[in-house]
Amino acid sequence: MALDAYVWAAGVATDLVNTAPEVWHGEDHLPDQASLAAFAELHSIPSATRPSDLLAVRLLRTTVRDLIDHPDQASLVTGATALTSAIGDVTLDVSSGHARWTVSLRPGATVSDSLSLVCGVGILGVVRALGAERLRVCSAAGCRGAFIDTTRPGRRRYCMPGLCGNRVNVANHRARRATAYTPQGNQA
Ligand SMILES: [Zn+2]
Repeated sequence: MALDAYVWAAGVATDLVNTAPEVWHGEDHLPDQASLAAFAELHSIPSATRPSDLLAVRLLRTTVRDLIDHPDQASLVTGATALTSAIGDVTLDVSSGHARWTVSLRPGATVSDSLSLVCGVGILGVVRALGAERLRVCSAAGCRGAFIDTTRPGRRRYCMPGLCGNRVNVANHRARRATAYTPQGNQA
């Protein structure tokens, strides 16, 4: 992967932490090996999935969430660096016409190694380019999701904007309507 592909990598890390059961009222969105393989394919993570990967990826998910929950620059750098231990080689990718720094996985790497590397590079890239404050928890009431904000203005508020953002909009809309329809005489 290219070392400047941190926007994509941070997006994968965000999607990974938001598969956790705590975000879905106890239902794990990586319940089995097939769901892990689907997650990897969806994000173009090429490695084969083995049975032992499921536990490893869930542990990785907890580690990444812990990093997002404690976004101190020094601990992010240390923690994310530990995730990059699966790197085999550092080289240049010149296929696109301009050279980019890339890292590749060591031979025999598994899907959990791939995801670990992606999360590590994503967090390091965001800390370098955007700052540690871009790792945040979701602002929607009752949501336990988290995300890494790679938007240019850096004002993202929700872990899953299509879901949590809409939920908040609907709640606000209902609250406004309820207020509008309250007879004046009923107000304390
Ligand atoms: Zn959320």
